[in-house]
Parts: sequence; C-alpha cells; structure tokens
Amino acid sequence: MQYTTEVDLDIEAGEIKRGAVNCTELEDGSPVVFPYIIMKGKYKGPTLLLNAALHGDELNGIEVINRVFEKIKPEDLHGTIIGVPVVNTLAFRARKRVDPIDDKNLNRVFPGRENGTVTERIAYHFFNDFVRKADFGIDLHTGMKGHLLLPHPRIRTLNGFIPSLEHHRALGTEFIFQNEGEKGMLNIEAGKIGIPIVCFEIGVASVLDEYYINAGFKGVINFMRFYDMLDGAPEIPKQQVLLKDYHEVISPIGGLFYPKVKPGDVVSKNQLLGITKSPYSGEKYYVRASDNCYIIGIRSQPVVRQGTTVAWLMTFEKGNVLPPLDRKDVRIIPSKLFNDSQERGIDIKE
Ligand SMILES: [Zn+2]
Repeated sequence: MQYTTEVDLDIEAGEIKRGAVNCTELEDGSPVVFPYIIMKGKYKGPTLLLNAALHGDELNGIEVINRVFEKIKPEDLHGTIIGVPVVNTLAFRARKRVDPIDDKNLNRVFPGRENGTVTERIAYHFFNDFVRKADFGIDLHTGMKGHLLLPHPRIRTLNGFIPSLEHHRALGTEFIFQNEGEKGMLNIEAGKIGIPIVCFEIGVASVLDEYYINAGFKGVINFMRFYDMLDGAPEIPKQQVLLKDYHEVISPIGGLFYPKVKPGDVVSKNQLLGITKSPYSGEKYYVRASDNCYIIGIRSQPVVRQGTTVAWLMTFEKGNVLPPLDRKDVRIIPSKLFNDSQERGIDIKE
C-alpha cells in the first residue's frame, strides 16, 4: 500500500481508490498510518465520511464499513463515500481503547495538533484530510467491554452547541440518546465547524456481533437514502424516542452476574433483571427493576465487583416521543419499543 501525507479526494466518477495516510513515525522508525477508501458515485451528490475505531477495540464499525464498500456500487451512488475503517491504528494494534504508550483518548483531542503526540497527530490528519472535506459523517463506536447497549446514535451538546436532530433520526433507530459532550470529541468539534457527524453506538468492544453489524449497516443505508445518496425510501420507526437521561443499576455485591433480560426488553416494576452470585460467600443478589422501564443495556461480561453497573434503564418519564419526520418518502415501520410498552399497559409520554 502506498503511504501519502496528502490525500487527494478528487477521483473520477465511478472510481474506487484505496490509500493510507502517514501521520508520524514511532521510536523504531516505523510509520503510523491509517487506511482509507473512497468511492465516487456515477451521480453528483454530497460527501459522506464513515469512520470506525477511534477507539482501537471497537470492531463492529470496521465490518460495517467493509460491507458498505462491498455492497454499494458506484453506479448506484449519488456523491462520494469516504471510509476510514481504523482511525486509531496504534490502539487497534494493541487491542486497546487507546494507545497504551501515548495513553490519550483520540476522541477527546480533536481537531488534533500537527506537532503533538502520536494520538494528537492521528487526530490532526484525520480531521484535516477527511473531516473538513466531508458534508457530513457517521462515526461508528461501541460500548466499552461489558457495556452492551441497544444500537443508538448519541447527540452531544456542549456550551450551547446543539447538533441537528434530523441527522441522528435519519439512521432510523428506535431511540436516540442526548447528553452533554466534552471538548475534543469528534462530533462536537466537527459540528462546531458546520460538519454534522453522528456518533453511532453499535454493540460492545472487542467482538464482532452480527446483530449489531446489521443494525449499523442498516443505519448507514437509511442515512444515505435520507440524504438522497442512494435510491429508495429510508425506514424510520413510527415512534422515535429521544432520551436525555438513563438510570444505571449497580450490583451491590461482587461475583458473577447472570442477566435475565436483554437490551430492547420492556420490563415492569420489580421484574427480575439478573442475579449476582458470590462464589466466595454463597450470597445471591436479585437485581430488580425499580420502575416500569425499557432495557437499553445489560452487562455482557459476568465478573462484577460491588458497584459495577449491570443494567442501563430508561424509565418512561425520561423518554420523549418525537413528532413524525417532515419528509415525503420515508417508509414508516412499527416501533417495537412502543408496541411492547402498549402491550404491557405502559405509556410513553408524547
Ligand atoms: Zn468509542
């Protein structure tokens, strides 16, 4: 593969190009490079940036980008797709969230520094060579090890900066989470210069999970249809729920956690969520729902300590059903969350 420091995105219509960007070199002289692939459609349209592995152990998004380039053909594409499947190349090599030597979180140092540490230089090249040249983007993440949450986009606000809700709704997930972000996050820093980047959480770190890969791929296709990069109507659930707060349930004892529900389940007050059993004392703790709620995440690694979060819940006072999208050719599909809730006689406020 040829390494370059300058990226030329100007390719012919119908063309696909692979390359790699050289960001810096390590102590032994080996280069720090991350790969990219560009597809320019036969038709004119916007430029979409797809990236994964800002955190090196988040793998599902890498496969989503592989599939996008395997399945979409330039003959069907309006505009350009830029894929950067592994941004944090050193953390990926180490099978870690961050590079263990530099120890900086890549998703806190955007827009990067030209003469900074290795992680800051990766951020600098990614931001200047790709982010600034895109019209919008989807930044694929997963939860940390053990944090298995439903597929959802995360809207991040900061000091009065509020990103566009529409770009997040365009993925077609049932729930959208909004919380306060931090300086240096990709979606915050790109959003501040007018480039909407949607952070899309699909699954959990260190594994490839077909359910979440499919959800990620479907979200990307919905987004591309929504913004007319592909023909066809995006599929959007009849009710999309915007959630601004969730409740974390901890295990009060250490041991092994046995989940009894899964992400996406609607549960009633006092329903059993899981059991922690201590192999030392023989003690058992039954984790129950404090209220009617929607399971947005469950711990997927069994060994827990006192205070480890084992479930992430949305109570129904905290969710808001969004009004229908004002767009003509959306294909409205049923919402499982809404239907399951109604079946159990639980109301979500409109
Ligand atoms: Zn991440």
